[in-house]
Amino acid sequence: MRVLLVFAHPEPQSLSASLRDVAVQELEAAGHEVRVSDLYAMRWKSQVDRADFPALAPNERLQPVAASKAAFATHTLTDDVRAEIEKLLWADALILQFPLWWFAMPAILKGWVDRVFAFGFAYGVGEHSDKRWGDRYGEGTLAGKRAMLIVTAGGWEEHYGARGVNGPIDDLLFPINHGILYYPGYDVLPPFVIYSTDRFDEARFEAAGQQLRVRMRTFETAALIPYRRQNGGDYHIPSMELRADLGATDLSGFALHLRRAAD
Ligand code: FAD
Repeated sequence: MRVLLVFAHPEPQSLSASLRDVAVQELEAAGHEVRVSDLYAMRWKSQVDRADFPALAPNERLQPVAASKAAFATHTLTDDVRAEIEKLLWADALILQFPLWWFAMPAILKGWVDRVFAFGFAYGVGEHSDKRWGDRYGEGTLAGKRAMLIVTAGGWEEHYGARGVNGPIDDLLFPINHGILYYPGYDVLPPFVIYSTDRFDEARFEAAGQQLRVRMRTFETAALIPYRRQNGGDYHIPSMELRADLGATDLSGFALHLRRAAD
């Protein structure tokens, strides 16, 4: 398997970097080929702006969606973005690794998504009709590939539990897992999350490393998050609402979009 790990932490001696090295070593030991995009080390440009679209005339209004579509179609995306797209096409699997900052990914990684997930590549793919609503949510350019998150969080595991004040971790990560990874087609694995990072010591690092090694060894075979297919009949088209007879009546929000055995 070919794996791309996109890493977002500014400090080479961080806990995150140590965990990244564990993941890479374990994957390579299992015979996988790994490439790392270390965004801070690459001095990745995170903001979308005119410089991303050299073909845009100086007095032309910048419409990011239209500009992305035109640049992807005419092969005029910038070299840094094209290089990342090549890596995504090369890889069978993608890992996004980051510390949880303000309940989200660091800006540099969000900027990687904003710039690399171009129109025609990660969105705006496929036909829209009364039967299909594009190739997305499990279909699309990156379908058939696997993806997962490796996340460190300062808060306790209980803080992110079902009744925790921070909100459940699966809800917080839903926009990334479902909205960023599943959307362009990836099969998404449950995330690997390390909590209470400010209390880390050698013993906890050893335990976390062991758990991470297991996750890397089972990357190819582990069960996926059972998201629903949007074109599989579960949703009305074009409203894209889940059919009223699916999902438990007491469910709402993100949980509705997980397939249940009963459906
Ligand atoms: P580091 O700071 O590098 O290390 C953490 C601890 O691990 C240190 O004690 C260090 O000595 C130890 N350590 C490092 N490497 C090793 C090693 N190899 N072996 C053993 N011990 C080691 N947390 C939340 O839960 N929710 C939030 O919304 C949130 N928002 C944040 C926003 C910002 C802007 C920032 C800066 C932090 C936020 N945090 C939040 C906390 C953040 O998630 C953690 O600080 C981060 O995940 C820790 O990971 P790190 O790689 O930066 O760890």
